[in-house]
Amino acid sequence: MSKIIVPKGTYDLLPDDTAKWRDLETKIHQIFSEYGYGEIRTPLFEHTELFQRGIGETTDIVEKEMFTFADRANRSLTLRPEGTASVVRAYLEHNLAGSGGVTKLYYYGPMFRCEAPQAGRFRQFSQYGAEVLGSLDPRVDAEVIALAVNFYRRLGITDLDVRLNSIGCPNCRPVYRSKLIERLRPKTGGLCSNCQRRLERNPLRLLDCKNPSCQDATADIPLITETLCAECGSHFEKLRILLDSIPINYHLDSRLVRGFDYYTKTVFEVLAGDLGAQNALCGGGRYDNLVEECGGNPTPGIGFAAGVERLLIVLESRKTSVFHPETPELYIAPLGEAAQLAVFPLLIKLREAGWKVESDFLGRSLKAQLKTADKMGVSLVGILGEDELQGRQILMRRMATSQQEMIPLDYDCIINFLKTEK
Ligand SMILES: [Zn+2]
Ligand SMILES: [Zn+2]
Repeated sequence: MSKIIVPKGTYDLLPDDTAKWRDLETKIHQIFSEYGYGEIRTPLFEHTELFQRGIGETTDIVEKEMFTFADRANRSLTLRPEGTASVVRAYLEHNLAGSGGVTKLYYYGPMFRCEAPQAGRFRQFSQYGAEVLGSLDPRVDAEVIALAVNFYRRLGITDLDVRLNSIGCPNCRPVYRSKLIERLRPKTGGLCSNCQRRLERNPLRLLDCKNPSCQDATADIPLITETLCAECGSHFEKLRILLDSIPINYHLDSRLVRGFDYYTKTVFEVLAGDLGAQNALCGGGRYDNLVEECGGNPTPGIGFAAGVERLLIVLESRKTSVFHPETPELYIAPLGEAAQLAVFPLLIKLREAGWKVESDFLGRSLKAQLKTADKMGVSLVGILGEDELQGRQILMRRMATSQQEMIPLDYDCIINFLKTEK
């Protein structure tokens, strides 16, 4: 019979991987907690309409990347392709605005998009992200960007490229939009089929098309930052002063528009040299109309989402030692059945006391057991042969020096020995 393998664009995490993931996850929870965020966990699937309304009908995600299916009552459901729409839904459903203060939420978990898999891009992938709801203040924008960037710095990734832009608001963006359509309409024939289709509905997306002929067509178009209204202009200026004060180095990128319809004012991306330009480590922006769009009172918001797989690729490629291998603190090697029986309760008891202890369950030779312990990276091996057992003793061997020491075969004595060796 043929073997069944994982679906395209998905993968298994094996024990060596999950140890790294857990370590990274701990660091993620830690930084969000330090910046005053509360964790939110939303369902993996939602009503399809949430994403259509929340992300926007003309986005790549909604047009062609969602895993949408009908449930048994023929309701249309979709595996969440991103986190923001669900967080905003939950924010409204549970009235998290409450007393009207600023609500700071973060999430972590799998997202699903039916994209062509490539390096660092999967159909089930993991993201962490922040959403801050209730404040228009550019200090919130700066704090969100600082959190996103400082997390990478903590992990030892310092050569970051932070790209920043403002894409205006419903007052000033339409002006820029018509300018763009006007300038590009005569060049329609030279655009890629995607951009031809998007020109009238979502012309901003043409700015970040990677197709060379589209880049040529948009080479000399006016900058969006030049047509911002007074409010957007001042917000952007204050944000830049705040980022300089941290300091966070960034560069202005007038082509940065991000793939979501809901962004207003600030948009940003963080890139690392190792990944291609299309693979940002994280990206986000302000969305002052999304809450209203989803049926709530007008509430400003800003957030970002960051990919975990891409981050791990960067960390692996740099061999940064941010992960702690889960090496056992002791390996006990019993020789013969009597020794096995004596070691077994000791093994369980030591583990219950919080020590990481391994042993052999195959009845192998001392040589084979030492080889296994060495492979695990264990520094201390307790050897229990027939002679030791008869003398109620255990031979402790330090693997690095091959130095050996006989100690009583007694739980307390072993614990004391482990403590002094640590
Ligand atoms: Zn504006
Ligand atoms: Zn194009």
